[in-house]
Amino acid sequence: MRQNLGGKLDLTTYGRSSGFAVDPVEKKPLYHFLPGSDVFSFGTAGCNLSCRFCQNWDISTARDMDRLMAQATPEEIAAAAKRTGCQSVAYTYNDPIIFTEYAVDAALAARADGLYSIVVSAGYITPAGAADLFGPIDAANIDLKSFEPEFYRKITGGRLDVVLDVLRYLVHETTVWTEVTTLVIPGLNDSPSELGRLTEWVAGELGPDVPLHFSAFHPAARMTNRPVTPLATLRQARDIGLANGLRYVYLGNVAEPGGSVTVCPGCRTGLVVRFGYQVADQRLTPDGLCPECGQTVAGRWA
Ligand code: SF4
Repeated sequence: MRQNLGGKLDLTTYGRSSGFAVDPVEKKPLYHFLPGSDVFSFGTAGCNLSCRFCQNWDISTARDMDRLMAQATPEEIAAAAKRTGCQSVAYTYNDPIIFTEYAVDAALAARADGLYSIVVSAGYITPAGAADLFGPIDAANIDLKSFEPEFYRKITGGRLDVVLDVLRYLVHETTVWTEVTTLVIPGLNDSPSELGRLTEWVAGELGPDVPLHFSAFHPAARMTNRPVTPLATLRQARDIGLANGLRYVYLGNVAEPGGSVTVCPGCRTGLVVRFGYQVADQRLTPDGLCPECGQTVAGRWA
């Protein structure tokens, strides 16, 4: 049942993890994919980017194997996910791009056990690599860290155009349910002009039904000289996204009533009400219709 990508034996993190946890799917964040379900999450060590603000700095920069304490085969991961009542397995914490062989085998084992697979990634990968990694994946949250090539080059060590191509590929050429996250950093990527171009691109190139999460920055890693993102900035980002045609714009890492509620784009009824990462009320029909006006709400709901 394994997909032979070659090079598996050269992947030193294969079968080893920096930790496992059971999280709500909302924490990935995915708001339009099996809301309220639990996800068995794991990651390894290292990353192919070097974001100065990385919240998982100790994991993403780890070079030694001491980080990799837990050992588990793909089949053991799937079995543990089932045992803990999870509906999905998530490849997360560091970027699964760098442990593609392990993630793909775990996803195939998960699928064989009736489980879904989720990738949380910065999307900095070649087209061939993307085809390998996302082949057995059901849902993804991809960072769009900025809409400025200079930001990508200087702050992350990556390239904006590569990430945009991966987002287009996922939305238009695969069945992977895709959501996008932008960490809004004061003074770096929070100008109305940049947020306007970013949200215009998401609505125009990916479509208005792709959920966009604006997440609050908190000082971390090599970026401790900037303040926490003000709530007013996040609200402005949401307003810009909605004005540019996006139907689902969420606020994350912040306590904002309504910031994580899925609202019907037709009649504005609150359909999935969340407090923090918990779902308090779910009114959508199993096939994703608003019970009030019959509007279809994009996502995988059942
Ligand atoms: S891509 Fe994610 S895990 Fe990797 S350095 Fe950037 S923020 Fe950290």
